[in-house]
Amino acid sequence: MSWPHRPDQDVLVDRPDDPARTAGIAEALGAVVPALEQFIESAPSAPIAAFNRPLVSLPSIGVGLEEMLAELAAFVEDGCRIGMPGWLGFVTTAPTTGPTVAATAAAVAGAQRYLHHSFNYLEHLALRWLGELCGLPATAAGIFTSGGSTANLLALGAARQHAFERLGVDVAEDGVPSGRFRIYASERAHRTIHRSAAVLGLGRSAVQAVGTGPAGHLDVAALDRALAQGEAEGDIPIAVVAVAGTTDTGSVDDVDGIADVCGSHDVWLHVDGAYGLIARAWPELTALFQGVERADSWIVDPHKWLACGTGVGAAFVRDADLLTRAFAEGSSAYLEGSFGPADAVAESQFDGFAGGWADQGVELSAPSRGAAVWAILREIGREGVVERIARDIGLARQLASLVVAHPDLELLCDPDLSIVCFRFRPDALVDDVALDDINERIVEGLRRTTTTVPSSTVVAGRYAIRPCFINPRTTTAEVHALVEDTVRLGSSLLHAASPGGSGAHPA
Ligand SMILES: *Cc1c(COP(=O)(O)O)cnc(C)c1O
Repeated sequence: MSWPHRPDQDVLVDRPDDPARTAGIAEALGAVVPALEQFIESAPSAPIAAFNRPLVSLPSIGVGLEEMLAELAAFVEDGCRIGMPGWLGFVTTAPTTGPTVAATAAAVAGAQRYLHHSFNYLEHLALRWLGELCGLPATAAGIFTSGGSTANLLALGAARQHAFERLGVDVAEDGVPSGRFRIYASERAHRTIHRSAAVLGLGRSAVQAVGTGPAGHLDVAALDRALAQGEAEGDIPIAVVAVAGTTDTGSVDDVDGIADVCGSHDVWLHVDGAYGLIARAWPELTALFQGVERADSWIVDPHKWLACGTGVGAAFVRDADLLTRAFAEGSSAYLEGSFGPADAVAESQFDGFAGGWADQGVELSAPSRGAAVWAILREIGREGVVERIARDIGLARQLASLVVAHPDLELLCDPDLSIVCFRFRPDALVDDVALDDINERIVEGLRRTTTTVPSSTVVAGRYAIRPCFINPRTTTAEVHALVEDTVRLGSSLLHAASPGGSGAHPA
């Protein structure tokens, strides 16, 4: 034995406890709560200050829990403002109260998804409820992931496994053989489809872009032709990706029509519903989402419209065994064999390893993400979700109407869901390059000088101001503010650029 075996080692005598505090959660949380409450209520202060702090060296001696908490409370003040009512950028928002508390509880009492405990029960329940909300087949197997990126990876991993098994190849075991593989997705599909193709060894170039109509919906006839051409050229189709709510315009593809095409070419259909699939819960939109249940895999992001806090996505696959064959770690001594399906009756936390999720994705250690999803669904129920969706789509429709009614604004695309694409277009300006430029400056101005902040995209070659309404704190006040601020900023930029203006930005 190379180390001296002394049961009374000095360090243990001097310091019998761990240097970190392991109890006193109520008091510690209490020290930060006032800052959190104030953060949620207050308008953002200059957030840029936070970026300019120096990166100091690792402390040799810690400051202790109280001092650390005081510093933490100060960081809260300059924190990320995506929860503010006027945050309308990308497809992201901050959690409401219930999921925030549930995630904290899960961090303490639900540590490690792969063991058997009550938070796994919440996770199973939340997956089932999510599937019900989105109208998925009752037999679809779900797994929570870190977000839509990993959810797409898992679903397409299952599709890849399926496609190669049909060729007699276990791709998870033996790797990708040579050949030309194809994932057919609309040109408006999310780039995480391409990244998934790269990670899965198919290559980004395996993603074949299929054209879309003017409002961003996949052209079903073009998909049919692309699949037929691929067959003629000997390509191996892995999957077709339909988007239930594109990130640019919120357009919901004709999933039913796409499912027909997939059926006739015998190809896996994946529905990327990271943003929009949850809207299927609103009965008014049933027709829009027709055919969704016919797919082989689906994803939805509870950290988007359900506002569960960033880090919660979900993938569903019709055949759970496929997911396991694609992602199993295999057995090892330290895992005491391999992961398997949950035992019917668990007698200890080790029994059944809680449902096999550790072998159905890319994570062994993982938090209990479902707690936050369970929390919001338990708090507001199906009707509450429907109310949120209807309310947010109502805000989008209100904005679209205000834009259509305004002489200086132009709606670039009718909203299917809660994303609106529009631009400032006064009569005095007709050139598209100049319009792109002025609208880009408007978005910069909104972000720098107002608290109503959209992101942008390009629709039919035109720069679009693109607010997305999924934020539970947004109200009609923000809709009106966005219209007024856009027109005000646009008019002053126009005035500055005109020959008679101040000349701050000559055209
Ligand atoms: C947001 C989004 C993704 C990616 O999800 P993350 O949770 O950001 O990783 C994928 N697809 C669509 C359609 C999205 O809107």
